[in-house]
Amino acid sequence: MSHTRIFTTILITLVFYACQTGPRQGEVTKIDASNIDKFCLQHDVEITKDGLLLKNQSSSITSQFNVRNFELTAKLKTTQGAEGILIFDATDAASNADGYEVKINNSDYRIGKLQKTGSLSRIRNNFVRTATDNQWFTLGVNVTANHIKVLVNDKTVCEYDEPANVERAGDISGRVLREGRIVIRRSNGIGELLLGEMTIKPLTSEQKGQNSPAIQDSLTKIVDRLNDQEFPLIDFHTHLKGGLTIDQAYTHAHQIGCNYGVAANCGLKFPVTNDSTLNVYYNSISKEPVFKAMQCEGREWVTLFSPHAVARFDYIFTDAMTWTDLKGRRMRLWIPEETFIDNEQQFMDMLVSKIEAILSQEPVDIHANPTYLPAKLAADYDRLWTPERMDRVIKVLKDNDVALEINARFKIPSITFIQRAKAAGVKFSFGTNNGSNNDLGRMEYCLKAIREAGLTGADMFIPRPANEKKVMKAGLPAKITG
Ligand SMILES: [Zn+2]
Repeated sequence: MSHTRIFTTILITLVFYACQTGPRQGEVTKIDASNIDKFCLQHDVEITKDGLLLKNQSSSITSQFNVRNFELTAKLKTTQGAEGILIFDATDAASNADGYEVKINNSDYRIGKLQKTGSLSRIRNNFVRTATDNQWFTLGVNVTANHIKVLVNDKTVCEYDEPANVERAGDISGRVLREGRIVIRRSNGIGELLLGEMTIKPLTSEQKGQNSPAIQDSLTKIVDRLNDQEFPLIDFHTHLKGGLTIDQAYTHAHQIGCNYGVAANCGLKFPVTNDSTLNVYYNSISKEPVFKAMQCEGREWVTLFSPHAVARFDYIFTDAMTWTDLKGRRMRLWIPEETFIDNEQQFMDMLVSKIEAILSQEPVDIHANPTYLPAKLAADYDRLWTPERMDRVIKVLKDNDVALEINARFKIPSITFIQRAKAAGVKFSFGTNNGSNNDLGRMEYCLKAIREAGLTGADMFIPRPANEKKVMKAGLPAKITG
């Protein structure tokens, strides 16, 4: 047994769960390799020159004092696949269910747990990768009155206002603000988790702030339940346009309890038309805790960008609202003057053929604004979208592993279409496609689709990991698809 192990074992024996007097209000307590007086190390925590190494599946570090309102910053590093949790307001450090939990998980998408670092677990989940394995990052938690804020590398990832008389059921019943301990623990047996240092500052009564009124209505209850179920409640189709800033988008996400994917419009006659403008856009949002997306516009986009530049994005998507008809007329279906319908049945057949060409040849992850019809035909949606036409679209989605967007703004596709696609095993994404800074909404149609089509978390799209990008595997088509 090493000196470290002996030292750790003696320490555990001496101070096991003995609650000490904690730091005074306003006073900063720091834990690092040279100062562990006020903390208890359990189950193989090794003191190394870089910090405290949590070596196995049940390794943990627990404060020997309680705090209620505080500012905490932990400098952490994971190796590949390692997952952990930071617990606060824990009254019983041996119980996993007690206290609020913040996830530590830097694995790529579709690898390991769905929730990523900074997720206020099952209360306001975060699914966006905010940190990277093998690189130091900071995890911050601030609790003031009823307000909880979680930050990763100084960017706010989750915010939550605990309602008065909050009620939680089942195994999250302990996630209620009160005075409690701080715990960092491992939650899987893969890789290693290293704590470089952690500072905790209890707040004085002047610093702790007032209670914020929490929104409590029927939609909040649905959103709370979906968060508890770890349903990936993500709006993958938003745009920073019409004055909408990233901070406004984030504030809105906090208020409605979802995550956002933010997309640039990329294509002919759009602001982003080549690799250089695409890279500028990516770099402008690369550090933000949102999914980074590219909306591929028109059909010409395949000739404007390189696969490598496209693959930097978490996912890419396109719709079938821009294409050229058999008479050579380039149409944009949302603009009446640019839409030509000589015969409605012929038009519908041509639309379905265009969707098949686009989704089978363009390496996109999501089909956006699906089943959209020009204003002239929209009233006849149910008649024109026959079962045969629906099934052709569903088949091309399934055959090419493209997710079907459920669009909150246009309320498409119909619930009938969604039910049919679910039965065929198609994956879904939610998208608002906002046009400005005042029409983000609360994804009402998507919540309705969850209820009426019985969607579960397993039905939902999650971006591909870096080495699985379709554009890198298939490349881009040499010619435009329609
Ligand atoms: Zn859009």
